[in-house]
Amino acid sequence: MTDNRELVQQRNETLADASPEEILRWAAETFPGAVALASSLGAEDQVLTAMIAREHLPITVFTLDTGRLFPETYELIAATADKLGVPVRVYFPDASDVEEMVRLHGIDLFRDSVAARKRCCDVRKVRPLRRAQAGLEAWVCGLRSGQGVTREQVTVVEWDEASGLVKINPLASWSEGQVWEYVRANDVPVNPLHEAGMPSIGCAPCTRAIEAGEDPRSGRWWWESAEQRECGLHGRIADDGGSR
Ligand code: SF4
Repeated sequence: MTDNRELVQQRNETLADASPEEILRWAAETFPGAVALASSLGAEDQVLTAMIAREHLPITVFTLDTGRLFPETYELIAATADKLGVPVRVYFPDASDVEEMVRLHGIDLFRDSVAARKRCCDVRKVRPLRRAQAGLEAWVCGLRSGQGVTREQVTVVEWDEASGLVKINPLASWSEGQVWEYVRANDVPVNPLHEAGMPSIGCAPCTRAIEAGEDPRSGRWWWESAEQRECGLHGRIADDGGSR
């Protein structure tokens, strides 16, 4: 595996003011055949998928099917392929891992404790993510620094210690308003649940609608403290294992 830590520091400065399209082009040129978009199918990731389609960039798009997603999210996977012409590769958790976890801890273990919730996210998200990342040098995410307390430090190019890959956030400096402006201007397919008050959509039992003015991620694992609300895919907090 190539260690690109030095490159990260240099490019984080030179790409700080670049447009998301410029950042995606740089990613495709720098990591040919070894960069993919990890899509949560949220509005930000749909914007990036549309940009990849419009620019005809050789960046694979994949998502993680935890088995607990909303029906609307499954419909969006199909709509994305149809409307944007981008096939979304779907990774599933290992069936025996899920069976063992449910046998030992119950189907809704995530309500029991933060540790139990992270165990569920590890089995259903983090392990499939690691499989999807095999062979990559870099991954692209739709993170924005304005998405709440766990994401304030997001920058355009980062070194992701957990995966040993370069992590690229082309929308790091975009506001929520810019995301929706792009969605409307380009007729990008998005999850209808956003209109039902869910700016951040993950698994059905762990996502709820929020009120205007609340932290955008406050509808995720709302029974936990704000600092804990990451699934292990984008860990910046202790014992987190990265955009659901
Ligand atoms: Fe499990 Fe909830 Fe994490 Fe989905 S978001 S993997 S259901 S704990």
